[in-house]
Amino acid sequence: MTDAPAHGFDTLQIHAGARPDPATGARQTPIYQTTAYVFRDADHAAALFNLQEVGFIYSRLTNPTVAVLQERIATLEGGVGAVCCSSGHAAQIMALFPLMMPGNNVVVSTRLYGGTVTQFTHTIKRFGWNAKFVDFDDLDAVKAACDDQTRAVFCEAIANPGGYITDLDAISAIADEAGVPLIVDNTSATPYLCRPIEHGATLVVHSTTKYLTGNGTVTGGCVVDSGKFDWSASDKFPSLSAPEPAYHGLKFHETFGALAFTFHGIAIGLRDLGMTMNPQAAHYTLMGTETLSLRMDRHVENAMKIAEWLENDPRIDYVTYAGLKSSPYNKRVEKICPRGAGGLFTFAVKGGYEACVKLVNSLEIFSHVANLGDTRSLIIHSASTTHRQLTEEQQIAAGAAPEVVRVSIGTENAEDLIADLDQALAKATA
Ligand SMILES: *Cc1c(COP(=O)(O)O)cnc(C)c1O
Repeated sequence: MTDAPAHGFDTLQIHAGARPDPATGARQTPIYQTTAYVFRDADHAAALFNLQEVGFIYSRLTNPTVAVLQERIATLEGGVGAVCCSSGHAAQIMALFPLMMPGNNVVVSTRLYGGTVTQFTHTIKRFGWNAKFVDFDDLDAVKAACDDQTRAVFCEAIANPGGYITDLDAISAIADEAGVPLIVDNTSATPYLCRPIEHGATLVVHSTTKYLTGNGTVTGGCVVDSGKFDWSASDKFPSLSAPEPAYHGLKFHETFGALAFTFHGIAIGLRDLGMTMNPQAAHYTLMGTETLSLRMDRHVENAMKIAEWLENDPRIDYVTYAGLKSSPYNKRVEKICPRGAGGLFTFAVKGGYEACVKLVNSLEIFSHVANLGDTRSLIIHSASTTHRQLTEEQQIAAGAAPEVVRVSIGTENAEDLIADLDQALAKATA
């Protein structure tokens, strides 16, 4: 398909990046299960290694199947380029890597996926990076947290475990003022529900493990670049603006312009960190993207029905779904994710910890797993699993209080899911 941004989302999710295989005419994108690619001759090889010509060298850097997925996700997000990698967590490191040097910090929302909190609290310190956690509803606090050493601002569009929607426009204005990029984790929303670049984000990261693949088969991640940030406007981003010793002094921004971040991600990030997505994973995720909008519409429709049903059930204390009028974030749905608030939320069961454990044990359709964004409905009681090591105070701050369960509503029949919750709640609160 030609580059035609005029096409609708449903068309692009099937066609963007893909074309019939030039060798065989295969209509579906083949899984290019190869490590290396034959050079035409020695000059061709030299040009590729010098980044003077774009092409395939070795699958740690680029692979034709993965390249189709990169172009597809970039198109759906409205970016100029994307780099896929081995997981969502890899994507977060790949997004920060070109921006950060030892001593630098990233200003991050307190409302993040639990694994991201751990990655940012502990692991990135080994690189000499620091994360400053701030309540992103307190705009003055976000502003105050940005200092000389800040190199990025990071948040989720619809924050896991659901119910919280970030005012991306307000946050991107603060990042702009600080002269640093806003990175948005768009995993829970997907580009169908929210397009962070349209709200001022510079980079969008994904765990493609979740809704983009959609059926819990492979882990993957992606970093999408809007192409809009001026990396040379200050001396804050030498990896992109200054001569790169590993490429004979090449300056990425000067040489590749809007594609600087994407080229750096491949030529330095994947080359040296090696967090590469494999072509099999790209294949499964490409399959998933073809039905993204259809699934998301159903996830949203089901989540809304189930959240409303739970909210009116006397066995339930509260429900945190932003799609509900009762949610303090309901007013942001229209602006940030007009097609709906996603499929993730938490609810509190009267009867506390014990009732939650019984509920999880009694469900038949819902699966008790540490995942989200599957066609299957999933549930987890964070306090007895992922957040088990935390104090009760920390659990409450993380939205994982002992009486709370998190659900990822699937695409099954809503009536069946409600009946399943009904019978399990009866057992749990008996
Ligand atoms: C799952 C998830 C991640 C991490 O992705 P992996 O593919 O598991 O590494 C990051 N952010 C969010 C919002 C997620 O849901």
